[in-house]
Amino acid sequence: MTFQYISPWMNEELNILRLSARKFLQKEFTPYLESWIEQKYVDKAAWLKAGSAGLLCASIPDQYGGGGGTIAHETVILEELEGCGVGVNFGNTIHSGIVAHYILAYGSEDQRQRWLPQMASGELIGALAMTEPGAGSDLQNIRMRAARNESGYLLNGQKTFITNGHMAGIIVVAAKVNLDAGAKGISLFVVETENCDGFRRGRNLRKIGMHASDTAELFFDNVYVPADNILGGKEGVGFSQMMAQLPIERLLIAISAVAAIERAVEITREYVKEREAFGKRLLDFQNTGFKLAERATEATIARVFIDYCIERAIAGDLDAVTASMAKWWLTDKQSETADVCLQMFGGYGYMEEYPISQMYVDSRVQRIYGGTNEIMKMLIARHL
Ligand SMILES: Cc1cc2nc3c(=O)[nH]c(=O)nc-3n(C[C@H](O)[C@H](O)[C@H](O)COP(=O)(O)OP(=O)(O)OC[C@H]3O[C@@H](n4cnc5c(N)ncnc54)[C@H](O)[C@@H]3O)c2cc1C
Repeated sequence: MTFQYISPWMNEELNILRLSARKFLQKEFTPYLESWIEQKYVDKAAWLKAGSAGLLCASIPDQYGGGGGTIAHETVILEELEGCGVGVNFGNTIHSGIVAHYILAYGSEDQRQRWLPQMASGELIGALAMTEPGAGSDLQNIRMRAARNESGYLLNGQKTFITNGHMAGIIVVAAKVNLDAGAKGISLFVVETENCDGFRRGRNLRKIGMHASDTAELFFDNVYVPADNILGGKEGVGFSQMMAQLPIERLLIAISAVAAIERAVEITREYVKEREAFGKRLLDFQNTGFKLAERATEATIARVFIDYCIERAIAGDLDAVTASMAKWWLTDKQSETADVCLQMFGGYGYMEEYPISQMYVDSRVQRIYGGTNEIMKMLIARHL
């Protein structure tokens, strides 16, 4: 593009991470993407390699095996994942950016020592199970039951649409001890899936996009969890824990949206400069030039806004309303941009071998998960 812009939070160390992530992903991820899309999950071997390369749990302190970085480190990795064409197909946002942070924030010292190093190495893949067939946006209404027994809890119920669900070795599960207690009844339990009696994975769900990402139904039939595995050490604080973590989850979604917008504009710019019709470059048609000019402008606005959010998150003061604004606006822009850019590729844009087609289908879900964009507007409106 014509403008040169370096994010204010970037520095030399992050640049080194960026270059090594790029080299690693181009060698170890891009060539395998097609087979992962076919099988509908990313190989465990790739998780392990990403762990060795320092791409997992980058924002978890090094005493727990993490990279000792901040959200800026997660951002660089997310941007490089988008750049290598894998994007949201690798469930690292949930794994490193969310599940590991639940354990860091609410786990005991023993639990952090036990789980985080294995998550950083890729041995344990993390998932977060909130959504149920009957409760998505309306989280307070979940029906997963946690019945107390002498030494712990028995979980009963079903979860759906769970990212990394097919592969996860550790799952943070939202459940209620008292089903009538609304939000105040929700607690978060850590379930270790290996040799876990009563735990069953359902189908790896077929989706319209994000084909290499495993998304599963999970079934819990008297699944025993020791009392220690309740996050925060007491019942009824799960909803407030989720509300505290959701702004960062939404920010991470917004960051991947901006990376996707930038890539869509860039690959489209290259295409319309090459492709000719009626004896001239597509870019030389005023409609194409104007459309791309609009998208390049919006990409710049998106970048400035996301950098503001990232800086606030690094400083530890990103508020829930701003995170909701970033999530809805930037993912809406991502969808629009993918659609407009695909159109400029003509029929080629509809072909799977052209990355814009994958970007188009992968963009759609960004407006749905992490709280739908309607729910984001509801949260913003409440504070007006
Ligand atoms: C690919 C994928 C991955 C996912 N990964 C995870 C995961 O890892 N963990 C997890 O727990 N969940 C996950 N989800 C679930 C996701 O978070 C939910 O789908 C989402 O929160 C919406 O819930 P729902 O599907 O039940 O839709 P519903 O809540 O039934 O909503 C349906 C429609 O009604 C609208 N609506 C609902 N309530 C209101 C309201 N009060 N005002 C206005 N409009 C409203 C919604 O915006 C939406 O448009 C994933 C979903 C997908 C598709």
